[in-house]
Amino acid sequence: MTRSSNPRVVLLFGPPGAGKGTQAELLAERFGWSHVESSKFLEHWITTTPSEARVEIEGNFYTAQDQQKKWETGILMDPPLVAYLLKGEVRRLRETGQSIVTSGAFRTLYEAQSALPLAFELYGKENIRVVSLNLSEDGSVFRNSHRRICSLLRHPVLYGEETKNLTACPLDGSLLLKRKGLDDPETIRVRLREYNERTKPVFQYLESQGLPAVDVNADQTPSRVFEDIQKAIG
Ligand SMILES: [Zn+2]
Repeated sequence: MTRSSNPRVVLLFGPPGAGKGTQAELLAERFGWSHVESSKFLEHWITTTPSEARVEIEGNFYTAQDQQKKWETGILMDPPLVAYLLKGEVRRLRETGQSIVTSGAFRTLYEAQSALPLAFELYGKENIRVVSLNLSEDGSVFRNSHRRICSLLRHPVLYGEETKNLTACPLDGSLLLKRKGLDDPETIRVRLREYNERTKPVFQYLESQGLPAVDVNADQTPSRVFEDIQKAIG
């Protein structure tokens, strides 16, 4: 945990399988930052909220059951709810004084427009960087259908020469599993479509706010991608 008088925000974007989670973990470990992982805190909410529960945001109700259905089929959860949960997470982390790296936020234009002003207010625009990890559709499908996560802390293990024969998590030794449903080829196609249609427009918005994304080729080994990200965020 590194405290800094000028904590930074790095927003990592990329299609499923681009290695956002892995790279965010590397940044968090190397620099003592906090990793804000949308898929993790949303999955936590999905799995710990009773299905009949509902949240009211600006006069609309969002039931956990509806969100659970979307989650399981690869469709993005409703943006107002995601933005609400994300902003809570960012406010909580700002108190710690740590820099943050996000993987998978913002997912939609709504989410970006709702949460970016808060990030500006809490961190200052000059301390925010945007990185786009680029990977082809075929690369995305291949990597996701071969991806595993550990059973203890859900560390992602991407498929590669160094990892294909692993049976235990390199970080904590727990068993490696496939994510049920979410990484099936059919679900990945839906997630890719969602990324192309709903997440990509976020880049234009960020650029209009003075935050152009820096492109990084994600089709390299994790350590090369990590080097390129460090260059990209200066
Ligand atoms: Zn692990």
